[in-house]
Amino acid sequence: MTLLAQWMRACGLARLDAQALVSTVLGWSRAQQVAHPEQELHSADLAQLDALAARLRAGEPMAYVLGEREFYGLMFQITPDVLIPRPDTELLVELALQKLEAFAPSSTPRVLDMGTGSGAIAVALAHTRPQAEVWALDASAVALTVAQSNAQRLLPPQRAAGAIRFVQSDWFAALRHVDATAPRFDCIVSNPPYVAQHDPHLPALRHEPALALTGQRPSADGLGDIRQIVAQAADFLHATGWLLLEHGYDQADAVRALLAAQGWRDVFSARDLSGIERVSGGLCPRPRQIQSPPKIA
Ligand code: GLN
Repeated sequence: MTLLAQWMRACGLARLDAQALVSTVLGWSRAQQVAHPEQELHSADLAQLDALAARLRAGEPMAYVLGEREFYGLMFQITPDVLIPRPDTELLVELALQKLEAFAPSSTPRVLDMGTGSGAIAVALAHTRPQAEVWALDASAVALTVAQSNAQRLLPPQRAAGAIRFVQSDWFAALRHVDATAPRFDCIVSNPPYVAQHDPHLPALRHEPALALTGQRPSADGLGDIRQIVAQAADFLHATGWLLLEHGYDQADAVRALLAAQGWRDVFSARDLSGIERVSGGLCPRPRQIQSPPKIA
C-alpha cells in the first residue's frame, strides 16, 4: 500500500509538479494534499501517477502531460500537435484588442489569426470581443481540430457554433480562394514560426511541433514566415487595418525594418512582461498609386 506522502517523496519530481499531477489524477487541491499525506493511493491511481511522472522526468512539458494550459484566463486543451501557449503571447492579444477599440462596440470588426495552433489567440479575442468576426487559419488540419474543440468548449454556446471561421491554409494561399474575392480584415495577428533553423534552443523545444517553431520552410534567421506574411498581408487588410506579429527576443529591429521597407506605416514594437520587444506591427501601406501614362500634348 502506497501513501500519498510516500509517493510524493519517491516520484523524483519537484513538489509543485508532483502536486499538479495528484490534482489531475485524484482531483485534489494542493491544500487537501497537504492536509492528508496519509491518504492511501488506489492501484489504478498509482499506476496513472507513475506513468505521468515518468513522462515529466523524461522532459515532456507539463502542458502536454496534463493536456491543458491556461492562456488569457481560459484553460485550453493542448496536444503535442500544437505549440504550448506562452504568457508572452498575451501581449499580442492585448494589442489586437486595443486596435479593435477604434471600432464601435456594436460594430463587427474582422480579425484574422494566422497559424492559430491551439486557437489560443483567436479564442481569447472572440471571448473578449464577442462582436468581432474572428477567422483562424492553420496549415495543420490536426491543429485546427484542437482549435475548434477549444472554441466549442470555451466560447458561450450561442457564440461557439459559428464564432470563429476556421480555414486550413499555408499562410494566405487558400484564403485567396475562400470567397469570390479575397476577404479583407481590420486586424491580422500572428504568432508565426520564428525560430531559426539551427537555433541552439531547439533541443529544449523538441516536444513541440517543428511546424510551429521553425515552420514548413525553416530559414537561417527564423524570419522566413514573417517575410511572407509581411509581403502579402496588405492584400487582405482594409486601408486602416493593422498587422501585428509576435517574434523572437532579438528580432524586433529586423521585423520593423521589414515592415518599413514595404511601406507599412506607424511601425512599432511593444515589450512583453519581461521587458523584451516581443510584438511588432504596422498600419497597412497606402495602396500603390497607378501611374497614368504621360499626356501627349
Ligand atoms: N516563443 C516560442 C519560443 O521561443 C517560439 C514560438 C514561435 O516560434 N512562434 O519558445
